[in-house]
Amino acid sequence: MGLVVQKYGGSSVADAEGIKRVAKRIVDAKKNGHQVVVVVSAMGDTTDELIDLAGQVSPIPSGREFDMLLTAGERISMALLAMAIKNLGHEAQSFTGSQAGVITDSVHNKARIIDVTPGRIRTALDEGNIAIVAGFQGVSQDKKDITTLGRGGSDTTAVALAAALDAEVCEIYTDVDGVFTADPRVVKKAKKIEWISFEDMLELAASGSKVLLHRCVEYARRYNIPIHVRSSFSGLQGTWVSNEPTGDSKVEQAIISGVAHDTSEAKITVVGVPDKPGEAAAIFRAVADAEINIDMIVQNVSAASTGLTDISFTLPKAEGRKAIDALEKAKGAIGFDSLRYDDQIGKISLVGAGMKTNPGVTADFFRALSDAGVNIELISTSEIRISVVTRADDVNEAVRAVHTAFGLDSDSDEAVVYGGTGR
Ligand code: ADP
Ligand code: ASP
Ligand code: MG
Repeated sequence: MGLVVQKYGGSSVADAEGIKRVAKRIVDAKKNGHQVVVVVSAMGDTTDELIDLAGQVSPIPSGREFDMLLTAGERISMALLAMAIKNLGHEAQSFTGSQAGVITDSVHNKARIIDVTPGRIRTALDEGNIAIVAGFQGVSQDKKDITTLGRGGSDTTAVALAAALDAEVCEIYTDVDGVFTADPRVVKKAKKIEWISFEDMLELAASGSKVLLHRCVEYARRYNIPIHVRSSFSGLQGTWVSNEPTGDSKVEQAIISGVAHDTSEAKITVVGVPDKPGEAAAIFRAVADAEINIDMIVQNVSAASTGLTDISFTLPKAEGRKAIDALEKAKGAIGFDSLRYDDQIGKISLVGAGMKTNPGVTADFFRALSDAGVNIELISTSEIRISVVTRADDVNEAVRAVHTAFGLDSDSDEAVVYGGTGR
């Protein structure tokens, strides 16, 4: 029996009862002969509450202090979990991200892991302990400041530790029974997926299926770490995410893996951009220099009479202010007319490797949206994904319509959501 890394999300450790329930599960894994490393998130909606609190004392908190504040959430849950395990008669030690050797770059609020040196975790395991690690945090290599990995980052901590410790599997415990063909909070008829490739999971995660963070899937694919996504509330088998179907999950790759949606983005339109070489480069240089990741981009054809065009792009709402400020600053140099900001948008994506060889998929997708009366504002595609931007109010209806149109609805059971607020 080898080493397993188990990650428990906030909804699994939302209160003292949750922590005790999770502690029993961890002890069971240890009793079965595994060495167990646990990565834990902050309890319930703690992180959101800390963010709200920061907003009350400062409209734009410093990145360093913001990270210092947010990492407190995971410190609380890791210590309580270690106490609960000890109370069951087993040895456990908790570690901050820094103590666990999670080394990052110094981009506060969305740092990237650049190395993991889990010496102290190894020692704790060798001494017979269960090691509990605070998720979502690390320490920057150069300044030795505390950093966070971006929302949902505990998933990445878990996979990074699993890779560094050469774990057999990384188990992600959450409040649903696995990865479904759509968010079970929106589509009651969503089906649990037995196995999904890294490739499809990466697209689903990047398109807003927050059950797994896309950086975590990227990491797992790079180091070939199988992920088992499952519920901490039930004993059911969950979803295996890996290169090839393994063990009891010998299933065929589906043509369409699922439908993802995302309402966390906003749209910026740069109005009246001179239609000449270098303009797009200047706009996106200004945005990139502000460390903002953008998603979709559309440029309209310029009206011949004015020689001006509009460029729209989407980005995380949380970065909207920063992007507008950066563009306003560069307005003189770039030479556009004005900026429009719209945060009432949503994105719906259809994902599946089978798209490559099934030419009708795009047409069927647009047909389903039009039958549901949903207007499309932007479109983007990859080899295995089609995404559209619509009004935010249309998103839930659109997801259900597309899910049904592609025959993904389950004809038996309804998907169970065990906990969490979906916040
Ligand atoms: P945790 O606190 O355990 O990290 P998250 O809230 O980050 O949990 O992720 C679990 C949630 O992801 C589920 O409650 C569900 O609403 C949402 N979700 C979105 N898309 C999917 C999907 N395709 N399959 C399963 N869950 C999904
Ligand atoms: N607690 C952090 C968050 O809410 C990290 C995580 O849960 O993965 O984003
Ligand atoms: Mg999560």
